[in-house]
Amino acid sequence: MSEFSKVAGLTGMKDTLPPETAHWQRFEAIVRGWLAAYGYQNVRIPVLEHTRLFARGIGEVTDIVEKEMYSFVDRLNDERLTMRPEFTAGIVRSAIEHNFLYDRPRRIYAMGPVFRHERPQRGRYRQFHQVDVEALGFPGPDVDAELIIMLARLWRLLGLQDIRLELNSLGQPPERAAHREALVRHLEAHLDILDDEARRRMHSNPLRVLDTKNPAMQAMADSAPRLFDFLGAESLAHYEGLCVRLQDAGIRWTLNPRLVRGLDYYNLTVFEWVTDRLGAQGTVCGGGRYDGLFELLGGKPAPAVGFAIGIERLLDLWLQSQAAEPTPECQVYMVHQGDAGQRQAAQLAEQLRDAGLAVVVHAGSGGFKSQFRRADASGACVAVVIADDELERGQATVKWLRAADAPDQQETIAFGRLAEQLQQRI
Ligand code: ATP
Ligand code: MG
Repeated sequence: MSEFSKVAGLTGMKDTLPPETAHWQRFEAIVRGWLAAYGYQNVRIPVLEHTRLFARGIGEVTDIVEKEMYSFVDRLNDERLTMRPEFTAGIVRSAIEHNFLYDRPRRIYAMGPVFRHERPQRGRYRQFHQVDVEALGFPGPDVDAELIIMLARLWRLLGLQDIRLELNSLGQPPERAAHREALVRHLEAHLDILDDEARRRMHSNPLRVLDTKNPAMQAMADSAPRLFDFLGAESLAHYEGLCVRLQDAGIRWTLNPRLVRGLDYYNLTVFEWVTDRLGAQGTVCGGGRYDGLFELLGGKPAPAVGFAIGIERLLDLWLQSQAAEPTPECQVYMVHQGDAGQRQAAQLAEQLRDAGLAVVVHAGSGGFKSQFRRADASGACVAVVIADDELERGQATVKWLRAADAPDQQETIAFGRLAEQLQQRI
């Protein structure tokens, strides 16, 4: 027994190990190709930002800012810092700071971990990952449509079905203000059935009260005045402009007038892609337009629209529709005997890698039997043996580990021809 106790990982923060990491890498490769096909370029921003960026950018009265952020005071200089709970605020901060979009509009994306202190459950973690895509400097609705059409393409590339699009328009601030008045009146008229959270929010963020999951408040929420009914001609034209382009692309959606999304900064277009296959956490992607955010964060006003995909949920859905094939560690496993055998094997392995093959040289001790067990476990299709006989003759023994690869199982190949021979046949 060790005198030291184990240190466990944190609740809600997952380790991802092989073979699961192979799915992540496959997914990331598909995503990068897909983004490149639409001209979106990668940006990388820090995990830590000033707390006030998110408080202002996301909104004080939101789930994220009220209770989900990992914030702390930096002991060295007393600054209040927060681990990013989403990308958009940081991306806008960065674009303002580097004058990144004022010469021309930009299509960009970021990928990586975000942090929210939520109750962990399936599809809800405290560290999770997003693909975040933003089109900065475009008023739309053409670009709003582009983003949704490109998501439909990603679902096709991944072979995903059973994923549906919900759309809404949140209009512009004056329309929201008029709706808000009507909504607060409606909430006040139903004060007796509002829960504590709803009462607290009915004046600060009444739209979010409609987002409630409390069954006792559903009827009240259903009969509430709809923001969509308060939209003026321009907002409706923007929405119509989006709809015709989705129709052009053969994309179907449902208008969900209750869709408001969790963040404060949205206007006009908001959307979510939802599936029924993941239980309660069925939203795999959410996005919308946030034309006011640049100004709110101290920049020159600029229109913008974007979305974030939750990678854990999307992979969960993807792997349900895929036969998860184990990914081999390597193609060739080198088995050897003695010091000279190991050194020859290591040299040959470098030649095989020059020829583009993935090679593992057995390391550590072990007789042939245990080395072959490792070769099998590695998923390699061929084992190359370098023992005394092989060294003496200058020929490797090559064993095909999966019968389908070669009927005659075993052969010898001169060291000098090994790379070329294996490259041709694997
Ligand atoms: P939800 O309604 O599920 O809480 P949200 O509105 O808070 O979602 P967004 O801020 O829009 O989520 O984040 C974009 C996407 O990130 C979501 O659609 C979802 O797929 C994913 N996501 C959000 N929170 C989590 C989490 N705690 N764990 C894993 N994925 C998450
Ligand atoms: Mg949330």
